[in-house]
Amino acid sequence: MKAEVAQQRSLLELSQLDAELSRIAHRATHLPQREAYERMRSEHTAASDRLATSRIVVEDLDAQVTRLESEIEAVRQREDRDRSLLTSGATDAKQLSDLQHELETLRRRQTSLEDSLLDVMERREELQGQLAVEQRAIEALQADLASTQQALDEALAEIDEARQLHSSRRDTLTATLDPALSALYERQRAGGGPGAGQLLGHRCGACRIEIGRGELSRISAAAEDELVRCPECGAILLRVKGFEQ
Ligand SMILES: [Zn+2]
Repeated sequence: MKAEVAQQRSLLELSQLDAELSRIAHRATHLPQREAYERMRSEHTAASDRLATSRIVVEDLDAQVTRLESEIEAVRQREDRDRSLLTSGATDAKQLSDLQHELETLRRRQTSLEDSLLDVMERREELQGQLAVEQRAIEALQADLASTQQALDEALAEIDEARQLHSSRRDTLTATLDPALSALYERQRAGGGPGAGQLLGHRCGACRIEIGRGELSRISAAAEDELVRCPECGAILLRVKGFEQ
């Protein structure tokens, strides 16, 4: 197959664009900003989970406080009733002794309930302090999460812009290529490696393998519009210089 030097030069640029596009694709999936964002997101999730657990414990302590307070109130009402019975004088000796005995029991019960209430309230206060610390930590994490998210979005937008730029240049370039040359290039690329490579000294720019002396002299002897292939990888071997060289 033959291809004009200008066509070969366009093909070289196309292969360079494709190499850049695959570097861009690799960069998009290996962004350090994504790693930072994912790490921050999992830290934030863990902190939110801890906060939710602490809140449940505080709610449970609130319920205990309410229960103890209502028990204390019930005991107090019972004491009031017993005391008014005592002072009413309408009691015989047996009832009097029973009432005094019950009042004694109620007082002990009251003290024990009040001790428990104090314990629970202390524990709740401690946890509420912890809750406030966790809440502040989450707010700080939220700010960090937002900034890592923004950094990721910016990196992705930059990559997207580069991709679009290269893709549109690729479309323009492909339109100028001889369809047969373009098809040959795409067929070679379908194998997974580069479709074309520049001859760099003794090496193929696509597979980087050194070409044997015999093959090299055959390649050098070929007419400049003769399309040669790398004997190692099959890529179209371009003997033209790139624009930037
Ligand atoms: Zn090669």
